[in-house]
Amino acid sequence: MPDSIFRISYIIGLIAGSVIRAVYTRQYRKNTIVDDHKTAQDKLLISLSSLGLIIIPLFYLLSPWLDFADYQLPVWVGWVGVVVFAFALWLLWRSHVDLGRNWSPSLEIMEEHRLVTGGVYRRIRHPMYAAHWVWGIAQVLLLQNWIAGYSMLVFFLPMYLTRVPHEEQMMLESFGEEYRQYTNRTGRVIPRLRL
Ligand code: SAH
Repeated sequence: MPDSIFRISYIIGLIAGSVIRAVYTRQYRKNTIVDDHKTAQDKLLISLSSLGLIIIPLFYLLSPWLDFADYQLPVWVGWVGVVVFAFALWLLWRSHVDLGRNWSPSLEIMEEHRLVTGGVYRRIRHPMYAAHWVWGIAQVLLLQNWIAGYSMLVFFLPMYLTRVPHEEQMMLESFGEEYRQYTNRTGRVIPRLRL
């Protein structure tokens, strides 16, 4: 029984995450892009992340094909998963709110793009990617299956490793010293404690 509660929690979270994305994608489409850094590789890696976040979990939840790889965690661990998942959604939402019109699903600079350094961007430079990592951890706890549980962590890793250096280079070229100083006082996904 708790097993199905955790699976349903994942579906509810997936819907909530998709709604957040949809709202900001509509807003993004009204923007004028002045500097486009997206590459074919980046697009491929975004699709891979969607595989880990949406396609494989839904395949697991809606068919019995992956059930052979199930594992069982104590019930309390599943509840920890619910809390961790709620935090991931909160962070995803807040980073969209704080980034506002500067958000892009890929690597782009908009007309009137400004550097956001407040809200959830105050201590870390990549709260939205941090939200993806936290989501991946929640997925391991909620979808107790070696394939569907770990699919996000596995498929998001190449995207994170290639995108972050590229994005930071782009931001440095666009915002110069202001971004350099911002990197000095922040961590990538883990807050910097010492300045
Ligand atoms: N890496 C960030 C943002 C992801 S969205 C995060 O994880 O929260 C990617 C887009 O956000 C990029 O196209 C870039 O132009 C923009 N961006 C990234 N950091 C930004 C910042 N601090 N201020 C304004 N725009 C930013």
